[in-house]
Amino acid sequence: MHSGHCLCGQLRFEADGEPQWVSYCHCASCRRHTASPVTCFVNFKSDRVRFSGDRTLYESSAGVTRSHCAICATPVSYETVSRDDEIDLYLNAFDNPQDFKPQIHAFFEEHIPWFDTQDNLPREP
Ligand SMILES: [Zn+2]
Ligand SMILES: [Zn+2]
Repeated sequence: MHSGHCLCGQLRFEADGEPQWVSYCHCASCRRHTASPVTCFVNFKSDRVRFSGDRTLYESSAGVTRSHCAICATPVSYETVSRDDEIDLYLNAFDNPQDFKPQIHAFFEEHIPWFDTQDNLPREP
């Protein structure tokens, strides 16, 4: 079981088992939602994930719902109707982010040119 929480601690989540995948995301929307040059997602089947506390949902584009803590605004998740039985949790909100290792770079085409990581993972446009 993996657990995580927002900065103020009122919003918590648990995820059972192991993730389906772990991916960096370099897209401009994630950059804004997280106020970071790159973010990282840990994907689980939705029925493996439970939330407690007040979570605010935000439709960032058609069919895409992001969520964050209703009080401190820490981003916690991304969901899309194109993968409606899955949820992507932001790696940075986990209690033990070191448990997950990214496998790929998504939306690398949108990455900030001065930003890169030292790895040989595949880079998808
Ligand atoms: Zn919070
Ligand atoms: Zn993204």
